[in-house]
Amino acid sequence: MPNIIKTRNLTYEYIRRDEEGNVEGITTAVDHVSLDIRPGEFIAILGHNGSGKSTLAKHINAILNPTEGTVWVDGKDTSDEEAIWDIRQTAGMVFQNPDNQIIGQVVEEDVGFGPENIGVPTKEIWERVEESLRAVRMYAYRKHSPNKLSGGQKQRVSIAGVLAMHPKCIILDEPTAMLDPNGRKEVIRAVRALNDVEQITVILITHYMEETIHANRVLVMNEGKIAMEGTPREIFSQVERLKELRLDVPQATLLAHELRGRGLELPAGILTAQELVDEIGKISRKGNRICP
Ligand code: ADP
Ligand code: MG
Repeated sequence: MPNIIKTRNLTYEYIRRDEEGNVEGITTAVDHVSLDIRPGEFIAILGHNGSGKSTLAKHINAILNPTEGTVWVDGKDTSDEEAIWDIRQTAGMVFQNPDNQIIGQVVEEDVGFGPENIGVPTKEIWERVEESLRAVRMYAYRKHSPNKLSGGQKQRVSIAGVLAMHPKCIILDEPTAMLDPNGRKEVIRAVRALNDVEQITVILITHYMEETIHANRVLVMNEGKIAMEGTPREIFSQVERLKELRLDVPQATLLAHELRGRGLELPAGILTAQELVDEIGKISRKGNRICP
């Protein structure tokens, strides 16, 4: 199957200007990135602030066009003006702040706006609204005012709005950054279901390591480049490298790493507290002493 997202030597430069509009300098935000994402993959993108994640994401939705290189979404070149609406329908985007994304007075209206704009017949709009709200478990709130919802609920409504466009791919740029732990869990659960149940390709940008452990692949960005790429386990077994890239490591991974440093025979790349507990259980059953 062809790649749903493909980039070759994608480079993007922001031109910085002073107050008079004179060019002060150039920031290379994305630097020769070549990426291949297959349909149905769940990709997580990590990287410290300013590493180029949002700039990369905006290319996949044709919000930005490359300074150099090419991006294809489902085979279409994003710099082709004629393909832009197709591209935006294929690859929907969810941003950090749910308050900037919801425009309707009632949840179901909000979710229906996108399909209405592209001329979907009324009967089908309502079908899409229902299925999208059910997919993010917000159907019970369809008659509510978005203002009264929690951050996590609002963000799930934003996701439903993108889903109603029947995208093949959804890009979420730090969708949980403004949410409390409970809201974060709700949103991540909804995103995982889209991938598992609907087979929608997911690109999740986050700075919460824990949110990446279910991804098929993790990409770590640094200075506009892909600095690391691998399964979550491959990535999180490289604790020192992650620290160099100024990333936090999941707590269970860090604890396992420190214990390994003290001579405890734990495998690399432990991701969750449960895995750590299980591995320590194995060691203690073998009769090893836990504390050196
Ligand atoms: P991230 O999402 O990983 O935090 P960004 O893609 O937002 O990274 O930013 C990458 C680099 O581009 C940073 O150095 C940032 O300061 C710069 N940048 C981002 N947006 C703009 C902009 N609108 N104008 C100028 N520079 C920008
Ligand atoms: Mg960003």
